[in-house]
Parts: sequence; structure tokens; C-alpha cells
Amino acid sequence: MSRPIQAHIDLSALKNNLRVVRRLTSSRIMAAIKANAYGHGLIQAARALEEAEGLALLDLQDAIRLRDAGCRQTILLLEGCFSADELPLLAEYDLSTVIHNAQQLDWLDAYSRRNALKVWLKVNTGMNRLGFFPQEIPAVMERLKSHRAVREVTLMTHFSHADEVEGVAAQLECFSGLTSAYNAPRSMANSAAILRYPATHADWVRPGIMLYGASPFTDTSAQQFGLRPVMTLSSEIISVSEIRPGAHVGYAGVFRAEASTRIGTVACGYADGYPRHASTGTPILVDGQRTHTLGRVSMDMLSVDLSNIPDAQVGSHVTLWGEGMPVEEVAHSAGTISYELLCALAARVPVRY
Ligand SMILES: *Cc1c(COP(=O)(O)O)cnc(C)c1O
Repeated sequence: MSRPIQAHIDLSALKNNLRVVRRLTSSRIMAAIKANAYGHGLIQAARALEEAEGLALLDLQDAIRLRDAGCRQTILLLEGCFSADELPLLAEYDLSTVIHNAQQLDWLDAYSRRNALKVWLKVNTGMNRLGFFPQEIPAVMERLKSHRAVREVTLMTHFSHADEVEGVAAQLECFSGLTSAYNAPRSMANSAAILRYPATHADWVRPGIMLYGASPFTDTSAQQFGLRPVMTLSSEIISVSEIRPGAHVGYAGVFRAEASTRIGTVACGYADGYPRHASTGTPILVDGQRTHTLGRVSMDMLSVDLSNIPDAQVGSHVTLWGEGMPVEEVAHSAGTISYELLCALAARVPVRY
């Protein structure tokens, strides 16, 4: 027997979540599969997402792996090229690339294979991370449209507040005003915008987190949108004990029992990707019943309160997140977001599909 921790990836849930996107929009769907498909496995996720019109990620080598695995959709490199010698590979593998800075434009100028490239021009409408400022766009568009190697230009931007009360209004207005002059496809929406702002859907939407079954919002659960969790991280109780009043649990004794308390030790720690900053009280399921963690998370283990689960014993099933335990809730207790927990699943955790 091996250590009982494992991640189960439910590819039918991934397909369900893609259908949820489909019902919300008539735009083409560019599924974000960066960061190993948010920790779910690049190739497996891409195969389950074959109905999406596009796939978006960062690494050229990963994009080539997808082509070699038989993926035929549009594949977009979200940060574009990192050197000029990548351009011939884009053409060879029919990959689309973001152009977000002047250096990438210069590399393009040195490349002349006719109609070889499909580019997504990134406009910085307020995120201030990547892209050209709005006032630069007319000149850049001229350059791209007259370039012999450029076959097609799509205009894109990314929202900074789609999941917050501020919303998308200012950026949407900026992008719409700027791009209405061009006869080019447009793309703006991430998951939050797809769910809340239909006016942003345009020609391509770019869902990420919602495909994996987590909600981008703090006030609406994934379930309310009909989304199902794709990754379930589970393990087992490997030790049970009753501690005396006043006894403490784990490193630094940050949890101290006021009364006699029945506790369990779970084979899962921060080296598995569970967040060390999850504080006492983080929700967790033991034999399908909700309880909470106690004390600090260790490298390989964490402790849970079994006071209200008298039948729990060594070997009892534990769900850290996933089916029945929204990853957003665990993330919230750890002061982070679901994205970070999913992406941080450790390589040592066996994954089952
Ligand atoms: C990651 C990413 C997305 C998807 O964002 P979610 O919030 O996960 O839906 C969309 N667009 C770009 C440019 C991204 O980098």
C-alpha cells in the first residue's frame, strides 16, 4: 500500500463546465490551459476540451506537444514569443501568438514567410501588465496589417476587476471605442466576465477557472452556476487520539484544546500542495462529514477535529477539496484564491483520471 493521498480528476465534470460556458455565450471558446491546465494535466485536459475552438497557454514546447497529441484547434501563446527563433515554429505548427510589446514586433519584422502567422494584439486598457497603450494601437495595427507574414490579427484585452465590484465598464468602453475602427475579431472575457458581463463576450471568450469548476466570485458559488469541481484531493486519517484539556496540536502549539478533544492526523501537508497558511478552522470532510483543521499544517500532515465524528478512525476517507468541499472555501481560509491551490498540486501526489 502507498501513502493514501491522491488527486482525482473528473474529466466529465470538465466537459460539463465547458457546456456551461457554451450555454452562456455564442462566442468561440478559447479554453485557458496554462499552468498544466490549472494543475489538472495539460494533455488530459486538452483532450476533454476538444469541443472548445481554442486552447491558450504559455509554453511553445507545450503547444507543440498538443499538436503532436493531435489537437487541431487554434492554440494561442498568451505571453507570445520569448525569442525571434520561435517564429518559424509558430508557422510550422500553426500556432497563434500574442504580441504585447515592441520587441516582439521587431522580431516579427525580421520574419517574412508569407501569411505564416496569426497574431493576437494585446491592448492595455487598464490592467497595466501586458500590452500596448490605446494610443499606440493605430500605428501597431498599420504595421501588422501591412506585414507580409501576418495572416490575421485578433484584438484582445484583459480585465483587472471582472470579479470585483468595480467591474469592467471603463475597460470595456476603452476597448470597444478603440477597436470599432477595425474589421478584426475581438476577445476580452475571462470566467468572471463570461458569467457577469455578456457585453464583453465579443468573438472569443477565454474561460479558465470556471472550466475547472471553481467560482471566480466570493458571493456566488460554483454550484449556483451549474459548475462541477474537476479536481478532488483526498487522503485518509492515519492516526487518532484524544488529547487532554490544555494540550496543544502541531508546530508552535497554535491550537490549544480547551476541553478533551478527539483529533485525527491526515496524510496531507504543504509538500502535497495543501496551503500552509490555512488556519485552524479550515473546512475539511471526514467520511463525508464536515469538520475543520486544527493548528498548523506540517509538510506531510495536518490535524482535524473529530469531536463530532465519533465513527471516524484510522483509514477514514478525507476530502481536502473538490467533490463536497469547494476549493474556494479552503483558499479563503488560507488567504488565497482557488487558482493558486489547484496550480500548486504537488508533483508527488498521484493523479487518477
Ligand atoms: C488565465 C487567463 C484567462 C482565464 O482567466 P480565468 O480567470 O481563469 O477565467 C483569460 N485570459 C488571459 C489572458 C489569461 O491569462
